[in-house]
Amino acid sequence: MYPQGNDKSTRRLQEKHTLPYKILIVEDNDNNGTLLSDLLIYHGYEVAMASNGQKGVNLARELLPDLILMDIQMPGLDGMSACSILKRDPPTSRLKIIALTAFAMQGDQEKFLAAGFDDYLSKPISIRELPILVERWLKNES
Ligand code: MN
Repeated sequence: MYPQGNDKSTRRLQEKHTLPYKILIVEDNDNNGTLLSDLLIYHGYEVAMASNGQKGVNLARELLPDLILMDIQMPGLDGMSACSILKRDPPTSRLKIIALTAFAMQGDQEKFLAAGFDDYLSKPISIRELPILVERWLKNES
């Protein structure tokens, strides 16, 4: 059931689809990190993990992942600072970064957007919502 006209663009699309997207999880809480990682691997993504903001920045520079899920509260470099650093630095400025936050209060959305986050997700993370959000941002390529 392959498309009749197997032109280059079709082939490219198929190849691209078979490549797993790379997602970087930056989260200091092991349980949360493992939960997110298991969920994303289950959905076919390739996952890398960093346990604090500085490691997250380093790994993001090295891997240039398709998407980053970034916890806000972390020891040392927190999520806000890590996101700002990545978004200000040309090699990583176009990476898509989603904030994971335990405290989404009024005004927080503005703070996240000001720090450069593309979107945010409130904890506890919904195992139904997360894959939908992730897929939406991965497909949102210009
Ligand atoms: Mn945390």
